[in-house]
Amino acid sequence: MVERNPFVTVIVTGVPGVGKTTVLTHVASILDGEGTAYVLANFGDYMLKVAKELGLVSHRDEIRKLPLRKQLELQEAAARLIREDALSKLGSDGVLLVDTHTVVKTVTGFWPGLPRGVVLELKPDAIVLVEAAPEVIVSRQERDKTRDRRDIGSVEKVAELMQMARIAAMASATLVSSSVFPVENIEGNPRAAAEKIVELVKMLR
Ligand code: ATP
Ligand code: AMP
Ligand code: MG
Repeated sequence: MVERNPFVTVIVTGVPGVGKTTVLTHVASILDGEGTAYVLANFGDYMLKVAKELGLVSHRDEIRKLPLRKQLELQEAAARLIREDALSKLGSDGVLLVDTHTVVKTVTGFWPGLPRGVVLELKPDAIVLVEAAPEVIVSRQERDKTRDRRDIGSVEKVAELMQMARIAAMASATLVSSSVFPVENIEGNPRAAAEKIVELVKMLR
């Protein structure tokens, strides 16, 4: 039998700049409003913390440029720490939301964000694919001066990565029988995608 966590687990993914982190702040505020217990874990935050402790990077957009075996160590550490945090904070009526990627564009090629080791640790019920038109994503990247997404910063590169992200989502889902749930992050209305994700959460148990 496929194992599940006591709490519902949803992994929210999408190409850099599509708006995952933004949409998830709205999911969090909806769950706060209804009094649902949740843990919102940004996978990159966990990787960044470990990477900084090891003196490997100073900014999150440098992580995907590290040697691949270093990224693998950070990825495995992040998955383990997120699971430990969620298990210590959530009961069976809670929700774990993980903000991450099904594929990461590294200098060594397209690399799975949710390989076997990671999905076996997190045991997602569903993998959400946040999407938008490539032109819209590029304009969001350009407006966001807090990040350096130049390595994925053209319509062609975003479209290619979106295609890889869909393939990678289904491949990861197959390993642990998760559903794959595409949702559009509409320009000017991130709350609409958040509401769809909250509806999804209700249908998983
Ligand atoms: P990364 O994977 O690099 O962390 P992300 O998917 O988490 O990226 P965000 O940081 O949430 O992306 O959003 C990127 C930019 O797009 C931000 O400036 C954010 O304010 C903006 N944005 C997000 N959603 C929308 C939306 N629905 N309409 C307009 N702007 C948006
Ligand atoms: P983010 O803020 O979501 O872009 O995360 C910061 C960085 O962390 C990403 O650009 C990746 O280098 C790394 N990262 C996040 N999630 C994963 C993952 N599941 N696997 C590998 N690297 C990841
Ligand atoms: Mg983000």
